[in-house]
Amino acid sequence: MNNVRVRFAPSPTGYLHIGGLRTALYNYLFAKKNNGKFILRIEDTDQTRFVEGAIENLINSLNWAGIAYDEGVFIENGEIVEKGDYGPYIQSKRLEIYKKYVDELIEKGHAYYCFCTKERLDKVREEQKISGQIPRYDGFCRNIPLEEAKKRIENGEEYVVRLKLPHNRDIDFYDMVRGNITINTSDMDDQVLLKSDGYPTYHLAVVVDDHLMGITHIVRGEEWLPSTPKHVYLYEAYGWEKPTYVHLPTVLNKDRKKLSKRQGDVSVEDFRNKGYLPEALVNYLALVGWSPEDNEEIMSLEDMVEKFSFERVSKTGGIFDIDKLNWINGHY
Ligand code: GLU
Repeated sequence: MNNVRVRFAPSPTGYLHIGGLRTALYNYLFAKKNNGKFILRIEDTDQTRFVEGAIENLINSLNWAGIAYDEGVFIENGEIVEKGDYGPYIQSKRLEIYKKYVDELIEKGHAYYCFCTKERLDKVREEQKISGQIPRYDGFCRNIPLEEAKKRIENGEEYVVRLKLPHNRDIDFYDMVRGNITINTSDMDDQVLLKSDGYPTYHLAVVVDDHLMGITHIVRGEEWLPSTPKHVYLYEAYGWEKPTYVHLPTVLNKDRKKLSKRQGDVSVEDFRNKGYLPEALVNYLALVGWSPEDNEEIMSLEDMVEKFSFERVSKTGGIFDIDKLNWINGHY
């Protein structure tokens, strides 16, 4: 495969979850296998969820696990530094870029200014719920003429920018694990792209950055699958080439529920503190949702690179089994 570029794009909201480490690992394995590049980007556009020290923690966990990347955000001599030709790699430093791209969408008629207050939106949602509808934006500001909207902004009115989805259109994309997927825009909302604080939402930032950073394959957890049609629509609206998507099955506990803090260790840091070997944790996590053709269970990173393919990633959730991890840990 030519010029593969993949990224791991965590939000700095706490310690690195083992599901996140597995996402980073699959990105790494795919990049190495294809002589590609692996990028670490920090997605911190939701400032309310930012946790002090989380960027450092994320990087330390990746370093400890031996998951090396080529570009993005690093720590050198205790300082956060960015390296690579596509930076900045920390989204809060890219606000001007998002503004420019949001303006382009508005000019092209694919997005619009929305002045609805929180009170109005709450009321609409409440009414929709009562009448059994799925709560969605009702399109109140969709047709405000651009000049009028600009005047209202000049007069100091607060606004957000929303995606102007066409009615009743199929959005298609290909996912390497799930195949072809089609969603109709009638099942989608006019997503907010730019918030009233001037920060983009995840949806805008992720598309703009993945495009500008030349990302060819988007490998991430399946919790992002419902967001993907919005992203695909944005690629189309900009006239950009779509990447290939790979949505990974969720890491589950033995009860087939999402692995959560209440049931025990979930962060890489927890396992590190308990003395697990990084090689064992990485080896085990690779097998949660993927199996090599020869069913080998003990593998070095190099072995995994050699054997890795998305064709052998399962569609259903991978079960995290601590006994199996302990068994693998005992073999190193
Ligand atoms: N920032 C998102 C997260 O924290 C990444 C989603 C993506 O990879 O597109 O999981």
